[in-house]
Amino acid sequence: MKKVVGITVGVIVGMMGLGWYLSVRFGAQGAAITPQGFAGAVVLTVLYFLPAAIAADKGKSNAGAICALNLLLGWTVIGWVAALVWSLTKDAAPQAVQVTVQQVRSCPSCGAPVPGRFCTECGREAMASARMS
Ligand SMILES: [Zn+2]
Repeated sequence: MKKVVGITVGVIVGMMGLGWYLSVRFGAQGAAITPQGFAGAVVLTVLYFLPAAIAADKGKSNAGAICALNLLLGWTVIGWVAALVWSLTKDAAPQAVQVTVQQVRSCPSCGAPVPGRFCTECGREAMASARMS
């Protein structure tokens, strides 16, 4: 739900920015905003927030960061491409598995669980055997 609100706010801000740009760019010439122009603006806005939409749709863990990059640096094109590529990458595999393996490592001498480098029971270093296993 937070993502939907974020994207909605982003789209509104984008529309306001685009409207401001169009009024500055074409307003001085007295040209009214045509239906074609408005449709183009809508398409551009949707296209602009495509990376954020993809990130939110895929439920990426860093969707917020992608939305921020998209919103703040999307206009630089490079920022937009970066946000798009980032939104299409897979989420990194959780590191919890590796941490768990380290935590259940047991002392080669006494068999006690070793949370760090040295055994808390006998004081022996447990790194060497951990590397082998
Ligand atoms: Zn030990």
